Amino acid sequence: MDNTSSTLVITGGGLVGMAAALLFHDRFDRVRVCEKRSSPLEDENYSNRSLQLVISARGWRTLGLLGLTEKVKAQTLELRGRYKHEMDGSAHPEPYSRDGQVICCVSRGTLYKLLTSEVLRLENTEVQFNTEVTGVDTENCLFFTAGNVTPDVGSYDLMIGSDGVYSTVSRQLNGENGIIRVLETNSYREIRITDAPWAADGFHYWFSDHMMIGAFPVFEGGFSLFTVLERADIDMILGDPESQYLETHFPGITSVVPDARKRFHEAADGVLGSVTCNQWHAGNHTVILGDAAHGILPFMGQGLNTGLEDLYVLNDFIAENGLKSGKSLAEFASIRRPQSDAIRDISMEQFRYLTGKMTQSERSVRKDVEKHLEEHGLPGVYASCAFTNEPFADIQERIRLLNDKYGQAKQG
Ligand SMILES: Cc1cc2nc3c(=O)[nH]c(=O)nc-3n(C[C@H](O)[C@H](O)[C@H](O)COP(=O)(O)OP(=O)(O)OC[C@H]3O[C@@H](n4cnc5c(N)ncnc54)[C@H](O)[C@@H]3O)c2cc1C
Repeated sequence: MDNTSSTLVITGGGLVGMAAALLFHDRFDRVRVCEKRSSPLEDENYSNRSLQLVISARGWRTLGLLGLTEKVKAQTLELRGRYKHEMDGSAHPEPYSRDGQVICCVSRGTLYKLLTSEVLRLENTEVQFNTEVTGVDTENCLFFTAGNVTPDVGSYDLMIGSDGVYSTVSRQLNGENGIIRVLETNSYREIRITDAPWAADGFHYWFSDHMMIGAFPVFEGGFSLFTVLERADIDMILGDPESQYLETHFPGITSVVPDARKRFHEAADGVLGSVTCNQWHAGNHTVILGDAAHGILPFMGQGLNTGLEDLYVLNDFIAENGLKSGKSLAEFASIRRPQSDAIRDISMEQFRYLTGKMTQSERSVRKDVEKHLEEHGLPGVYASCAFTNEPFADIQERIRLLNDKYGQAKQG
């Protein structure tokens, strides 16, 4: 590929797609971003899945490359840890790290609008909203669109498929059978509350035997409250107007949000799941990244951070090898795939822990492992993922060895 007369096409102008345009635009003559939705800047009611996103070290590293650290920081709240709320109304702080490191919480809409505005300023970049990529011919580097655009066939020198978990580009590369989707039986529902007497420097959570409720403070004010609940329990707990379940098990929530049951019941039902793709690239012209390549459960707050890390690593490859060497995308994919597999599994373990799906003995081994890490002055699993750029696969291997050690000790 000749980088002096070339076109980059980005399918899916979500968070990762917009960041990709900012990172790579100056390596190409022309950049086209095709986004099937309308512009977030023109949509007063813009909202998109979860309201709050946590940005940690990996995300900041890429935002730093884009020169956006200060602009994004100005819109975030710093979170020092979690607060575990008990039935008696007490709340116990659990710092994320022993040396006081913080993660940052930003509204998804704020971050998306900021990235979009930055992309719209680029001279060689055209963002085509309301434009869906309907197919890709990776052999001939052609793509097909529906929506606002004429003509509806275009060519590319590099296509980045960042079109999310139901990616068209990924389907093209993998076929339906090459994509493994694991859907959980839990529903995820989120509501926004304008005021609550909880500290704004941490994430708050409450447990009962059936249900977990979490709350992220929102930069613009109030809290974003979410619940993770087995679908089988929804009608029993949320659907019955006479139910006193929340009042009985979550008095700390209902005293602040008296209509929480009704509001959670009416909230959109989010599906939780993981997506693994076998094939991330075709030749040296087509690649997927972000959620298009790896959908992970949100309980480590690493989905977007991992997508941004994909960009960081791809940028290194392109800087080192260019795109002419014929091997950059294959090497990129072979390096990134084990990392996204590892954070997928780590996130799954966190989900099982938080939703009571772990056995007592698994929970007890987990406790021993965290204690071991603390006694040896090592960061816990969450801190390793959030505050370092250590490869996820290395973190996973360290934990696997400790799990084996303490698991065997318990059996022996
Ligand atoms: C409840 C929840 C909480 C989360 N919390 C966190 C968190 O705290 N921290 C974190 O790092 N991650 C978090 N995540 C994960 C994070 O939201 C995703 O990893 C991130 O949004 C992925 O960005 P993306 O750009 O790859 O995909 P998306 O955000 O899904 O964007 C894909 C874009 O492609 C467009 N598109 C799709 N198909 C086409 C097509 N054929 N043609 C054109 N456009 C198309 C879509 O309209 C969309 O705009 C969370 C996820 C959930 C569900």
